[in-house]
Amino acid sequence: MESADDFFRKEKDRSTSAIRRSETDLRRVLDSSPFPIIVSTRTDRKVLYLNKLASEMFHVTLGDLQGKPTPDFFVDPADREHVMDVLEKVGEVDDYEAHLRDGAGREFPALVSVTPVEYENKPASFLTFNDITGRKEKETELLRLATVDPLTGVLNRRAFSEQAERELARARRYSNPLSALMLDIDWFKQINDTMGHAAGDHVLRELSRIMERTLRETDIVGRVGGEEFAAILTETPLQGAVETAERIREAIAAEEFTYEGGPIRITASIGVAEFMPGDKTVEDTLKRADSYLYHAKQSGRNRVMND
Ligand code: GH3
Ligand code: MG
Ligand code: MG
Repeated sequence: MESADDFFRKEKDRSTSAIRRSETDLRRVLDSSPFPIIVSTRTDRKVLYLNKLASEMFHVTLGDLQGKPTPDFFVDPADREHVMDVLEKVGEVDDYEAHLRDGAGREFPALVSVTPVEYENKPASFLTFNDITGRKEKETELLRLATVDPLTGVLNRRAFSEQAERELARARRYSNPLSALMLDIDWFKQINDTMGHAAGDHVLRELSRIMERTLRETDIVGRVGGEEFAAILTETPLQGAVETAERIREAIAAEEFTYEGGPIRITASIGVAEFMPGDKTVEDTLKRADSYLYHAKQSGRNRVMND
């Protein structure tokens, strides 16, 4: 299937060649274009023509703008300068991505192209705009789906590892402390067995909220196994991380999770480790936290253990 970009490119070619060919059917071609178009003089950028969609976009009629300077549609003046610069050096601009502002003040991402043409025997610039709001939203949504665990809304395992590694690199650069937590729910199988899988899912979601609200905005939380969660606490030495882990443990033990009217009580075990100079990757730190989690399970569960 033809992509929106290919379609946009073909439209630009169709319209610019119509200008070059003749001006008889030019307005019909420009007005039927699904993209806003402005034609302006090349030297002083005075508007010669704008099609219906450009008129709607800037909330002006051709009569309002004809002979006037081209409206300033760039949100960031640096984009405008860049486009002018490229025009001067290269002579044309192809699909430059920038944020634009329309006549109603709405800001939106768009691709801007400027092609040199002859219009009414004058050197002119042909400006086209391709609103890419829909594509950007799709990209954001795809990124969200690829990074977030659908059940709980916290990071999935892969995204957690990537972000954790990035935080570790930052901590190294600034010689900041960094700690890792590994959490596993105690006797979780029993919840599923006695209350049902849906009740178990509900607990996983609620527990994620507890972790998120106990941790700071700058910390990272991920679901790294069925009922296992990991967190990276930035700028936090071991003692601070142990205190936070203890607060999470207490909050979970104190919470009465209710599902379909029935109360559910759970506890969790947590292992805590601080990043040490010998750790090559954040996985090494997480592995140590995991071994303390194992000790916590061995010593009776519902507890925090660390080195
Ligand atoms: P322990 O205290 O030793 O951790 O005991 P446990 O029962 O929590 O540990 P175990 O590893 O035996 O069981 C984990 C259970 O987690 C098994 C599985 O049914 C459940 N589980 C894993 N993923 C999900 C999920 O997405 N939803 C639900 N409801 N349960 C899950
Ligand atoms: Mg487990
Ligand atoms: Mg468990």
